[in-house]
Amino acid sequence: MLSNFVPLASPDINETDINNVVNVLKSGMLVQGENVGLLENFFSDYLGAAHASALSNGTSTLHLALVTLGIGPGDEVIVPAFSYVATANVVELVGAKCIFVDIDENTFNIDVNKIKEAITPNTKAIIPVHEFGLACDIESIMSIAKEHKLYVIEDAACALGATQNNKKVGTFGDFGSFSLHPRKSITSGEGGILTTNNSDYSAQIKILRNHGIEMQDGKMEFVAAGYNYRMTDFQAALAHSQIQRLDNILKLKQALADVYLSEIKNPKITLPVVPEGRNHTWQTFHVLIDDSLQQSEVLEFLRNNKIGANYGAQCIPAMKYYKEKYSLDYKEKFPNAYKAYTKGVAVPLYEKLNEDTVYKISQILNTI
Ligand SMILES: *Cc1c(COP(=O)(O)O)cnc(C)c1O
Repeated sequence: MLSNFVPLASPDINETDINNVVNVLKSGMLVQGENVGLLENFFSDYLGAAHASALSNGTSTLHLALVTLGIGPGDEVIVPAFSYVATANVVELVGAKCIFVDIDENTFNIDVNKIKEAITPNTKAIIPVHEFGLACDIESIMSIAKEHKLYVIEDAACALGATQNNKKVGTFGDFGSFSLHPRKSITSGEGGILTTNNSDYSAQIKILRNHGIEMQDGKMEFVAAGYNYRMTDFQAALAHSQIQRLDNILKLKQALADVYLSEIKNPKITLPVVPEGRNHTWQTFHVLIDDSLQQSEVLEFLRNNKIGANYGAQCIPAMKYYKEKYSLDYKEKFPNAYKAYTKGVAVPLYEKLNEDTVYKISQILNTI
């Protein structure tokens, strides 16, 4: 039995983080001071991306990527049927059409074998998601995209540090989109980072995030109907402080995931799979329960046992807006996405937990 309730997620904010934020507050430079630049430089160096732009969250990063590529009405964008709903919302925001593709039931990532059949003459881009922190098969997706001349925006919101064949995700596609929400490995409160290797795109993002302002001959010109998608400097200071220990955080999370992987032995529970050549950063530890179990009952059982648990992500075409707009037979067309949505259970995994707690949670999972 656990002595205290273990929430599903809990950000780790230490004294150094707090001091770094307070220093910015005391400086009076609250917006786009030096920490925004430091955070962007850290990201581009860490990932090996030419450019990184700090934005207000991991949804504005996806949105600006689509805007920068000129994707809009009449265009189709391929998205996985199972993800956090923001992945599809941004396609709607630019007036384009979502083309949903089912996921692989073992990895919860888009089923690469089903992408080609979803491509039409109107397809402009693919937004593959590195779901729950596991790198998707981005190499295969890049070769499909190349063959069909499609843009790729990697939704790496959960996957900072994930790799395929030792190359970091977020550097394969035209854009890499990261979230710094408190549910992710490191946080700025709200925040996002958009990476690209294309300097024209990067320049455009920096204009669009800041009201369409471009400096020309030392003078501010308003060259586009831009957004205000800036990150404040105290948010950047928090993320920049946390990112110094990212490798350690990822190591701790891997150690906790290893406890789950070796200790959960319930035949009614299917454990997550990490394919050859790819790594998992364990933003979420997500298991599948079998047909003999009801998701709502399992979640309630876990909460009664002081374990914060929830479903992992949405079967997007089954959500009210998408159900009404697209009228897709989602149970039939996206069986794996629907299964992950209705049989998925996310359990606590974050660096503040210790192995003993994860061991105890595993034992409770074994009694279901
Ligand atoms: C968290 C998340 C987002 C959105 O990020 P925010 O910073 O909350 O806007 C987008 N896509 C995926 C896959 C996510 O997990």
